[in-house]
Amino acid sequence: MTVTRFAPSPNGPLHLGHAYSAVIAHDRAMEWGGRFLLRIEDIDGTRSRPELAEAFREDLAWLGLTWEEVPAQSTRLASYDTAARNLLERGLLYPCTCTRAEIEALEPHLGSEGLVYPGTCRGQTTDPGRPTALRLDVERALAEVGEVWWDDEIAGRIVADPREAGDVVIVRKDAPASYHLAVTLDDAVDGITVVTRGQDLFPATSVHRLLQALLGLPVPRWYHHGLLMDEDGKKLAKSRRSGERGYGLAELRRAGEDGPALADRLRRGDFPAGITLASA
Ligand code: GLU
Repeated sequence: MTVTRFAPSPNGPLHLGHAYSAVIAHDRAMEWGGRFLLRIEDIDGTRSRPELAEAFREDLAWLGLTWEEVPAQSTRLASYDTAARNLLERGLLYPCTCTRAEIEALEPHLGSEGLVYPGTCRGQTTDPGRPTALRLDVERALAEVGEVWWDDEIAGRIVADPREAGDVVIVRKDAPASYHLAVTLDDAVDGITVVTRGQDLFPATSVHRLLQALLGLPVPRWYHHGLLMDEDGKKLAKSRRSGERGYGLAELRRAGEDGPALADRLRRGDFPAGITLASA
């Protein structure tokens, strides 16, 4: 049975790009009588706004989608902690006290994941008095598991390249897991068989595939869909406040738009004025 999920973070309102992603995941599951799950990704306690989770449910219902909701990340912290300890005991994580400003000052090259950590704290003794994150030692991890690959429903068989994202954070300074650890564990626990997500998360998938191999988790398939771009040719994004500038689902709902009709337009690739699809 196909099990997909939509996993929004409640740190800003949803926009048309989220609707597109949710419709793809929903339809992919429903095609063969599968399950479409909603998981609220609220690992980031400082940026999460609980009232947005309720707004997300209203958005999905307005689009005419049906789903099963699984527990939010904030209720799963103990399982993240157990997995992180396992990796730490195997020498695959190292403490890092660097701040973002310090990392930027070292002029690291910019990877497609954003800032790639140059490994400053790897093999060093860190100051226990400073807030500490735990990072994955990618080279050690690869030495343990060898080459890993995944089946992508659009791109075919892909060899994971976790070096592109570098030594990512696994345990944050302010939370028992990073996005990477939490999403990998959650997808396994929730029995996800096809991870549907935007192309922008392609480099992250390599990290998740590596974590699955390290933790002995089941391997799903992936479907990386194209991204919706605004009139400036930039992807719709919470960081660009796309959910508050005319493309927000709550905004469109309040303006009296017909949700199921919008979902059907997204299915057909008939996008609202100004929106284009950067194809996968
Ligand atoms: N929670 C992530 C977000 O809101 C996406 C989840 C995923 O597909 O990994 O962008």
